[in-house]
Amino acid sequence: MNVIDSHCHLERADFADRDEVMARARAAGVGWFVVVGSGGSLANVDNAVALAEANADASAAVGIHPHDVGRMSEDDLAAIERLAVMHPKVVALGETGLDYHYHHSTPEQQQAAFRRFIAVARAAKKPLTLHIRDAHDDARAIFIEEHGRDVGAVVHCFSGTLDEARAWLDLGCWLSFSGILTFKSAEEIRRAAAFAPPDRILVETDCPYLAPIPYRGKRNEPAYVVETLRQLAQVRGVPVEECAAATVSATRAAFRLP
Ligand SMILES: [Zn+2]
Ligand SMILES: [Zn+2]
Repeated sequence: MNVIDSHCHLERADFADRDEVMARARAAGVGWFVVVGSGGSLANVDNAVALAEANADASAAVGIHPHDVGRMSEDDLAAIERLAVMHPKVVALGETGLDYHYHHSTPEQQQAAFRRFIAVARAAKKPLTLHIRDAHDDARAIFIEEHGRDVGAVVHCFSGTLDEARAWLDLGCWLSFSGILTFKSAEEIRRAAAFAPPDRILVETDCPYLAPIPYRGKRNEPAYVVETLRQLAQVRGVPVEECAAATVSATRAAFRLP
């Protein structure tokens, strides 16, 4: 099996054992990692880029999480823009977006940062990886106003309704499904996963968070993306291998991977 973990946080301190973690993932069929460096400090960004440099089968995304934009400085933004424009292993900007579920930064701070990250993505001519929670209408309005379609976007860890899925797909975006897809309560997300065209679906772990069943509650890791893939194939009523191939080519297209 060949599958891509399209959004993981292997750069974090949770993964002091990342060499073994990555080896387990490769053994499970993970052929590529998109490491998203976007926590509360630039150290996470630098760690993600260093991981992508050190591993032929990894790329990096660089950004500041909506939770943390209240602490973002102009210097941080300039450093991220430099990496996005110059670094060949940086494939996307993010994660960025809006999270109205947790108000670690105010909606106004998040909206302003989101607009700026779309501008950086357009300058770098690279796509966005979007974190949207309980904020799909505002996020889409900003994405349209700031011409996000010029670069495209993956809505990571998609957790909206079928109508919200349809609206993002209508904007040319991709949807990435996490371990939440395997949770009993995720009926609406499974509807969206069944509805999306095969060339727009990705899978991810968002590890160390959101481990799929049967690992729920444990530290998540890229090897477990296979469980989410299995669930996605089941929901869509297609063989796992076919679903895996669809997600791989969608991820390659979304992040313009080699
Ligand atoms: Zn996220
Ligand atoms: Zn994430």
